[in-house]
Amino acid sequence: MCGIVGYIGNKTACPILIAGLTNLEYRGYDSAGISTIEKNVLSVLKDKGRVNNLKNLSEFNSLKGSVGIAHTRWATHGKPSSVNSHPHLDNSKTFSVVHNGIIENYNELKNFLTNKGFTFYSETDTEVIPNLISYYYQEFPNKNKDVSVFLSAVQKACKELIGSYAIEVISKDFPDYIIVAKKNSPLVIGKGVKENYIASDIPAILEYTKNFYFLEENEFAVISRNNVEFFDSSLNKISKDLKEISWDSNATDKNGFEDYMLKEIYEQPDSIRNTINSRLNENGEYDFSDLKLSKQYLKNINKIYILACGTAMHAGLAVKNTIEKLCNIITQVEVASEFRYRNPLVDSNTLCIFVSQSGETADTLAALNLSKEAGAKTIAITNVVGSSITRLADYSVFTHAGPEIAVASTKAYTCQVTLLNMLAIHLAETLGNCDRELINTLKLNVLSLPNKVQECLNSDDFIKDFASRIYTEKDVFFLGRGIDYTTALEASLKLKEISYIHSEAYPAGELKHGPIALIENGTTVVSIITDKTLTPKSISNTQEVITRGAKTLIITNEHLSNSNFDTIINIPEVHSFVSPILAIIPLQLLAYRISKNKNLDVDKPRNLAKSVTVE
Ligand code: GLU
Repeated sequence: MCGIVGYIGNKTACPILIAGLTNLEYRGYDSAGISTIEKNVLSVLKDKGRVNNLKNLSEFNSLKGSVGIAHTRWATHGKPSSVNSHPHLDNSKTFSVVHNGIIENYNELKNFLTNKGFTFYSETDTEVIPNLISYYYQEFPNKNKDVSVFLSAVQKACKELIGSYAIEVISKDFPDYIIVAKKNSPLVIGKGVKENYIASDIPAILEYTKNFYFLEENEFAVISRNNVEFFDSSLNKISKDLKEISWDSNATDKNGFEDYMLKEIYEQPDSIRNTINSRLNENGEYDFSDLKLSKQYLKNINKIYILACGTAMHAGLAVKNTIEKLCNIITQVEVASEFRYRNPLVDSNTLCIFVSQSGETADTLAALNLSKEAGAKTIAITNVVGSSITRLADYSVFTHAGPEIAVASTKAYTCQVTLLNMLAIHLAETLGNCDRELINTLKLNVLSLPNKVQECLNSDDFIKDFASRIYTEKDVFFLGRGIDYTTALEASLKLKEISYIHSEAYPAGELKHGPIALIENGTTVVSIITDKTLTPKSISNTQEVITRGAKTLIITNEHLSNSNFDTIINIPEVHSFVSPILAIIPLQLLAYRISKNKNLDVDKPRNLAKSVTVE
C-alpha cells in the first residue's frame, strides 16, 4: 500500500526516484510526489494521479539534486489532491517528509502544534510530522547543529506518534543526509557503492542493488552517500547485517507477457517447483529442521491457528482438512483482522501460522503480536525475506514464488498451498502416528504438481471462449463441496478483484438453503468437482441450478459427460488435499480473461493495494 523511494548518491536523483515509484505502482496509489535537495534548496513536486503525470509538471526538469525522497500515496486522511499528496513540508520549509501509514493521534498533535503557532495546509495526518520535527528542532541552539540534532528532532517527533509509519525526512539544513524511521510499516535500505537507496519493498530498487538492510520497529537510520548508521528508539547506535537478496532483477519484467498477472499465472509450474525444492533434501525428504518443533511439543498442542487475510486466508482454508486428518490436531483458519478483537483462546500450547505474501500485512502482523504475547509458538509463511512478519515470528518458511507484482495474487497462493501441505506432512511425520501410505501418496502428488499445473494452463483457450461469452454478466456463482469450496472462495475473490463482477462462493450443498433464489435464466455458475467422494452430490447440486436456468462451467478431474453442462474443463487427477492448486489455475485465467474483455487494468485494479499495510 503506497510506496516510498529514496536516493542519495552522485547521480541525479529524480529519474531514479521516478523509476522506483514506477516499480512500486503495483502496490496501489492515487497520488505521487518527489522532493530533492540541491545547494540547500528543497524542491517539491507532487500531484494526484499517476507517477507519469509528474513528468508533465513544469517544474519537473528543474529537479536536479542528487538527494531525494519520493512517494506514492494511498489516501487515508484527505482526498487525493495536490496539497494532500506527499512530500509535506513544515511551516519553515526546512524539512520535507514522506510517510506511509496512519498517525492515529494526528488530531491531538495538530491541536498542540496549532496552539504553538503552526499552520496546516492539507487534510492529511502526515502534515503533523514535518511540523513536529520542526518544533523540536527549534529547541536546539542555532550553532552546533550537526546531523545528530536533525536525528534528535526526528526521534522526538516519532516518540509522539501513535499509529504506523515508515518515513523519510530530508532537510535543507542537512543536504547530505536522509533520515528514515519505521513502525509497523515496511521500509528497506539498499546499499550501493557511494550511493544508497531506500524503498518500501525490495523489487523497487532491485535493479540497483541486491544488498539490503532491514530496519526493525522503532529504529532510525541516518543515510549519507557513503554510510548508513542505525539507532534504536533511544538513539543508541546499533549495528546491522547486510543481507543479500537472491531474486533476479529480470523477475520484475513482464517478460513478453501482456500483463504481470498473466506472466505470474504462467510462472506457476516453476514457482511451485522452486517452493518444493526449497524443502527437499538430497534424499528426497522434507527438511523443516529449522522449525525445531519436537514430537513432544507437537503432542501437547491444543490447536493450530492459521491467520491471514484475503487470498492467503484461502490458502489456509485449503489446508485445514489436511492438517486435521494427518496430524489429528484441531486447526482453525481465521481472518486476521477479526482474530485480534475477539479474545481468542491462545496459549503456550497453541501453534499459530501466519500467511502473507508480502510479510507486511498489517492485520496479520497485529494477530502475530497478539499470539506472541499469549505465549504461542509462531511460524511465518511469506514470500519476502526480511519482511516484518518474518522478523517477528519464531520461525519463517518461505514460498519461493519470486516477486509477485500483480495486485491479484496467483503464484503466491499456489505456492502457499503447496508449502502448507508440505508443512502438514512434516508435522505428521514428526508426530509419527500418521498413515504412512497416505503420506507417501501425498508426497508423490506434491512432486507431480509442477507438471500438472502446466497441463492446467492448456485450458486457457477454452477459458478465453467462455469468458468472451459471460464478461458482461452482473453476477457469477462459484460452488464446491469440501476442499472445492475453498477453491470456490478463492476463484470468486479473483473475479471480484479484477473484473468488478459481483460473485459469491457457496458450499454446493448450502445453495438450496437460500441463495438458490438468486439463480435465474442464464445466471453463470461455476462448479468445482475434484473430490471423488463428493462427486455425485456435487453433480446433483449443479443439476439443481441448471434446472433453474443456470449456465455452468465445470472444473473437474472426473470424466463427466453431461450434456447439460455448458463447458467442462478437465484438470489432471491428484489427491483432493492438493487439488486446490490445480483447480484454481483455470479460474485465475477466467478472472484474467474476463477483466481483459472488459478492458480493465488487470494488474492494478481499482481501490486495491498489493500489500495492505494499514489495519
Ligand atoms: N495517511 C497518509 C495520508 O493519507 C499516508 C497514506 C499512505 O500510506 O499513502 O496521506
